Parts: sequence; structure tokens; C-alpha cells
Amino acid sequence: MTDPAPDLLRLRGVSKHFGSFRAVDDVGFTVRAGARHAVIGPNGAGKSTLFGLVSGTLAATAGSLLLDGRDVTRLPVHRRVGLGIAATFQHSSLFLPETVLENVLLAALRRAGAGTGPGGRRKAGARAAATARARALLERVGLPGRHDVPAAELSHGERRQLEVAVALATEPRLLLLDEPAAGMSPAETERLTRLIAALPDEVTVLLIEHDLDMVFELADTVTVMHLGNHLTTGSPDEVRASAEVQSAYLGTTEVST
Ligand code: ADP
Ligand code: MG
Repeated sequence: MTDPAPDLLRLRGVSKHFGSFRAVDDVGFTVRAGARHAVIGPNGAGKSTLFGLVSGTLAATAGSLLLDGRDVTRLPVHRRVGLGIAATFQHSSLFLPETVLENVLLAALRRAGAGTGPGGRRKAGARAAATARARALLERVGLPGRHDVPAAELSHGERRQLEVAVALATEPRLLLLDEPAAGMSPAETERLTRLIAALPDEVTVLLIEHDLDMVFELADTVTVMHLGNHLTTGSPDEVRASAEVQSAYLGTTEVST
């Protein structure tokens, strides 16, 4: 049976319990292929935990995750990356002693299956192609001219830009961004917003973001979580108008209007 709905990701009754604590509890929604889909909710709502379940860094306690109809619930991270799921995390996963270019190159080579293990020999052609792609990605995220700088020397905002380039280097179909604008200056946030908006439709974006201005500028679909539960998924206008959403937010976070 084929599913006519163009859903890239489908979550069905997904839960993550830490002991008796339900960080994510019976969450179900779908992410359309090509969507700019935001997940919002007060701190502790379970957003990052949910991303861990999608990226595979956390194992679901219950429920299932389908990517393009394929059950990925039990697949390890690297298999999900191979299927096109890429994530940037709230806490950085860069190789700080390596240069900016090398960080992107490693991800691009991994994607190309060119072998990047210690002492592993890379095919010259693959490396040249990956280097060209890495340079183009650094241009795209706004880090040209920073190629040879160790990642450790980047500003906070630049690191987040680099993380996006690293994620894109794996040629994801689904890009998970967990608070990418956290700690960024307004100018950096603006640049990041433009970058995400300019991604091709082949890259579906699932974005956790605290900056609601950014959410409402970018997102075509918004999911609201609260205390581990899925409150609603709808258009930005529907979500903004939802009384349930307002009551979840009001008084519980510092979210500005
Ligand atoms: P959000 O990203 O929406 O702020 P999180 O998914 O990070 O929320 O966390 C949701 C809840 O789960 C929080 O109360 C957090 O303390 C709890 N939590 C997250 N990870 C763990 C863990 N490894 N062990 C126990 N509790 C956790
Ligand atoms: Mg979080």
C-alpha cells in the first residue's frame, strides 16, 4: 500500500520516559516533505528529547518513527544519517581542534562513503569533490574566508553557522535544527534565517526555536509541545490564535511577542 500524502516524517505515539518521568509522551504528528516545520514550547516541553528520538541519539520508550514510510525507530544514528537525517544539537558536536574546512569536509566525505578513519586512504577525486562542496557550503552559511581557522577560534555565532554547514554536508533530506539562533547576535540570527529560508525544497527543515519572530518568519507549520505532550500542529496563524497555546505559554516562559 502506498501513502499518497507527501509526508517525509511521521511520528506515531512516540514516547521517551526517563524512569517514571515522561519527557515525551505519546507524541504524534507528521512533517510534510519540503516543510519548514517549527517545534515550539516552553523550556522542558520535551523538544530536544523529541529531536534525539528523531536523530537516533535517544531510543524511544514507545511508538514509532517513519521516514518516507520506512520504520527507523530502532536504527542507530549513522544509519539514519545515511537515510538523510541530519541534526545540529543544542550543544555543539564540532571537532574544535580541526579547521572550519576540515569539519565540513569530514562530514562531506562521510556522506560520500570515502572512508575517513584514522590512516584511511581517501580517494583523491572524492576528496577534491568534497572539498569543493565544503567550500561552497561555507560560502552559503556565511563563513567564507574562515576555512583555515580552527573551529575552536570561531565566535559562538560562527560555530552555529559551521554546524549548519556540517549538517548540510551530509546532504540531508531532513535537517533538524535545535535552537540554532541561541546565543546569536541579531545580525547573525538574521543571516541564519535567510540561510534556512533559502534552502532548497529537497531539504525538509524541522526547527526548534525559542525566537518566535524567527519561527513565524520561517515556518509554514508549527507544532506546539508542553510538558512532554503534543498540544497542536497547524499553520502559524492557527497556532498563534490557539487559546490552548496561549495558556501553555503565558506565564510559563519569557517568550516575547
Ligand atoms: P526542551 O528542549 O523542550 O527544553 P528537553 O527535551 O530538553 O526540553 O527536556 C524535557 C524534560 O526532560 C526536562 O524536564 C528535562 O529535565 C528532562 N530530561 C531531558 N533529558 C533527560 C535525561 N537524560 N534524564 C532525565 N530527564 C531528562
Ligand atoms: Mg531544548
